[in-house]
Order: sequence, then structure tokens, then C-alpha cells
Amino acid sequence: CGIVGYIGPKPCVPVIMEGLARLEYRGYDSAGIAVAGGGHPLQLRRAPGKLRNLDAILAKDPVEGTYGIGHTRWATHGRPTEENAHPHRDGTGTLVVVHNGIVENYLKLKNDLIAKGHKFSSETDTEIIAHVIQDELEIAAGMPERLTNTDAADSNTSQAVIMGALPQSLPLEEAVRRAVKRLTGAFAIGVLSAAEPDKMVAARMGPPAVLGLGDGEFFLASDVPGILHHTRDIYFLQDGEVAVLTKQGITLTDFDAQPKTLTPQRITWDP
Ligand code: GLU
Repeated sequence: CGIVGYIGPKPCVPVIMEGLARLEYRGYDSAGIAVAGGGHPLQLRRAPGKLRNLDAILAKDPVEGTYGIGHTRWATHGRPTEENAHPHRDGTGTLVVVHNGIVENYLKLKNDLIAKGHKFSSETDTEIIAHVIQDELEIAAGMPERLTNTDAADSNTSQAVIMGALPQSLPLEEAVRRAVKRLTGAFAIGVLSAAEPDKMVAARMGPPAVLGLGDGEFFLASDVPGILHHTRDIYFLQDGEVAVLTKQGITLTDFDAQPKTLTPQRITWDP
């Protein structure tokens, strides 16, 4: 129920963890983070329970990077376990998704994907989103067989990532646009792919999502207080919009890839 994402010059882990702590009032039962960049591979850590459990894991087994996304989960589909904590991965372990909301048609999507050979490692509706994005990349690549890395599904680090296993047939944002059109229900999502470094994609239909525009750094959050101590220039992502965050800035389109104008507003109030 909380999302914080960061891309910029700073080490991203403290920014994300502090932002998640500021969103604690939203309530949650587990937490996780995925980070990459600055010469580091895509790394994933997740923990059931409070944020301090994730902090403890990060103290023992640190991750580093210059962009990443974190999530605090309020379970709707599947128990609050480590396996069900976000971020969730596609079948190759290359891309990760955090999600607020409920995918209402997840069972139908899941069964269709299982028939295509997908294997799932959680009970969540969210994991389906990662696999639908993978499916769109594989459909665009004309791949008859899909790729599975069963090691990736078992590993909490993403050491098991097969680089290049996920076809780069479409830019990540286009795969996300095609994927979200297959979902019904409510979602605010953040997506990263090891195959497309220094990029973060966000999409919204229902639950709130905000973008923060800093000086050479950009933010994604489920709510303003998660990032307001870094920037007061905020854009409220609208339903049916997809944002692409890079170190250069943020671009915005609708689900059909039509460009939209991003006009931030200056937040003058304090949480
Ligand atoms: N439906 C998703 C889950 O159960 C997301 C829940 C949330 O909004 O935190 O994992």
C-alpha cells in the first residue's frame, strides 16, 4: 500500500527506505525493495512484517544502486509471506513490479499464462502483471516458447537473472502499455527491468500515484508525503497514464502511447 521509487545520482536505498517509513500510516504487512544502477546488478530483498525487518535484512545483506523501487504491502491475494511480498518478478527474473490495488481478472490471466508454460512463485495477483509484461515482450518477439528461469523464482537475490533472456522486442514502457490494457481492476504500478538500465516505468488506473521532479533526480510514490522532503514539484499521475522516469526527466503518454503534457504543481502544504 506504499510505493516509493527513485532515479538520480544519489544512492537510492536510503531515499526509498525513508520514503516508505513516511508512508507507514497507510498500513502494511510486508515490504520489499529492488535496486540497480551505478554498476550494480538488479538486486531484490523482501521481508514479512514491519519495515524494520527489511532494514535488518538490508543491514546483513546490503543492496546498492542509483535507481530502484520499494513497496509496503497490504495483502489482498495471498498471505503476508516473503514469497508474496513485492517486488514480483517475471519468469526470467529480469523485470520487477510493485503494485497497489487488485487485478480482478488475475485468475483468468494466470490460467492462460500457465497454459503457455509460465510458472508462478507467489499467490498474488501482482505477480501476474510481471508475467503479462513478459508475455507482451515475447509476443512482440514472435517467440513460440516462453523462457523460465526456475532458479530466479527461488532466489531472493537476483544473481540468477539470465541477462538477455527477456527479449528486448519493445521498449519496456510499450510492453507495460500493452500489458495494462489486459488488466481489469485497480492498479498503480512501478516497473524496472535489468535489460533496460536507468529507467523506471509507472502506470495508473485507480489507486493514487505521484511523480516528483527534482534537480537531476525523479521520484515515484503512492502519496505525496513519501517524497515531499526531496521535492515540492509534484505531478499527480492520472488514470490511464504511463510515465517513463530516467535521469534526464519524465515523459508521459496514455495507454495508447499518445504523448501527454506533464505540468507539475508546487506543493506548499506540509503533511
Ligand atoms: N493485490 C496486491 C497484493 O495482494 C497488492 C496489495 C497492495 O495494494 O499492497 O499483493
